[in-house]
Amino acid sequence: MIAIPDQVAAPFLEKLQKLYADMDAAYGTVAEGYGFHCTGCVDNCCLTRFYHHTHIEYLYLRQGFHHLTQGLRRKVRQRAAEVRRETAALEKTGGPVRLMCPLNAEGLCLVYPHRPMICRLHGPAHELHRPGRAVGYGPGCDAFTRQTEGKAYLPFDRTPFYMEMARIEAELKQTADITQRIKMTIAEMVETL
Ligand code: SF4
Repeated sequence: MIAIPDQVAAPFLEKLQKLYADMDAAYGTVAEGYGFHCTGCVDNCCLTRFYHHTHIEYLYLRQGFHHLTQGLRRKVRQRAAEVRRETAALEKTGGPVRLMCPLNAEGLCLVYPHRPMICRLHGPAHELHRPGRAVGYGPGCDAFTRQTEGKAYLPFDRTPFYMEMARIEAELKQTADITQRIKMTIAEMVETL
């Protein structure tokens, strides 16, 4: 779907990897501070229909996907098609859409080092600083709320990560002359990888 030559994408993918490393480090610090462990959660966040909005994350996910064996890629694509069909049926009924991400196999992410930003940041309570607006606070997931009951808030500011992501995306789009926007779920991405 997104045709960007590898040599054009490469420097941006390097910047993304650095950004992901910074996110993972910040997440690790805050999780350790709380004693929060993201394991064995029934209300799995991989059931959440997240949308992803950057071409650069799409390209990085594609890299991870193509590290999988051909057989596994085929299975994931089939599952992604099922998820899309089931999503369409649920949308018609107006019911909630909570379907397992096609990249989740037996509780594990098949592309863990290549997973998108929201999969990395989801969990802890966080804050967002937007120019000219009051600071926004997110409560964190249910498991986080349960595990950290009674503990004082530890600042987890997503703003610099969102800003750097926007910078990388804008530079990539300018360099590769991309004008369209992207808004895709993992299931939608997988079918095009
Ligand atoms: S990409 Fe990986 S971490 Fe993100 S929702 Fe899918 S399985 Fe879960």
